Amino acid sequence: MPGTLYILATPIGNLEDTTFRAVRILGEVDLIAAEDTRHSLKLLNHFGISKPLTSYFDHNQQFKGERILQALRREKSVALISDAGTPCISDPGFNLVRAAVAEGIAVIPIPGPCAAVTALSASGLPSDTFTFAGFPPARQGKRRAFLNAMDHLPGTLLFYEAPHRLEETLRDIREVMGERQVVVARELTKIYEEFIRGTVTDVLSTVAQGKVRGEVVILVAPGEAAQEDAPPLPELLGRLLHDEGLTVKDAAKKAAEMTGVPKNTAYAEALRVRNGGKEC
Ligand code: SAM
Repeated sequence: MPGTLYILATPIGNLEDTTFRAVRILGEVDLIAAEDTRHSLKLLNHFGISKPLTSYFDHNQQFKGERILQALRREKSVALISDAGTPCISDPGFNLVRAAVAEGIAVIPIPGPCAAVTALSASGLPSDTFTFAGFPPARQGKRRAFLNAMDHLPGTLLFYEAPHRLEETLRDIREVMGERQVVVARELTKIYEEFIRGTVTDVLSTVAQGKVRGEVVILVAPGEAAQEDAPPLPELLGRLLHDEGLTVKDAAKKAAEMTGVPKNTAYAEALRVRNGGKEC
């Protein structure tokens, strides 16, 4: 039996966000593969964990991935961690997970912090449907094309961005998507955690004063184009069920297509509307 590969999330700034399970697994595995071993040693030392460490980062992942797979084939268990948050989310890991899955090696996620989800949860922007798009391209032409491709997506858009590119990316968001509501979530879980909310122009005026430093997530509220054609979900479902006489299943399917709301959410809401607003 090959060993197990654990994809283990670590804090995005606050060590108290390490889970009990993460500490236990880190203490049990044979090998820890870390994006930056020196960085991860701080976390491991904090929890008194001493284990063989190896590096696994963007530029050595082909060679190191094979070494890690060899260890897994020899029944060793390996935990993959990144500098912060969940491996594979704008961090190395995908190629290793794909190779392990292809070989039938067990891959077990150990969930924990992720900056995108953390930001979304407290942003105050719609969270039922969202698109996480990682880092926008660094060059303006490509960045604008990238943003343009997302302009009509339903739900909230989430981007990671380097602080020194925040201002130019916000300017491009305004240029391509218009004056939307945005949130810049900064230094999440750390001492200077801050949510800067407002129109793109409002937020740009804060950013342009040079006050925004540290790590940031940009969240963009759904644009009018994504919302304007569809009335609120209960109203739309009421029309489809009562006026058009569709079944719950068909009404939910059509409403999901029209609004971008997930099908299971539309289905649950359709049942509620059919029952006169009562939960089933
Ligand atoms: N794997 C990580 C995760 O699960 O969130 C993301 C790694 S990615 C290389 C780093 C980017 O995540 C940063 O540039 C920033 O956009 C975002 N980020 C990470 N930690 C953050 C924090 N504490 N506050 C705000 N954004 C953060």
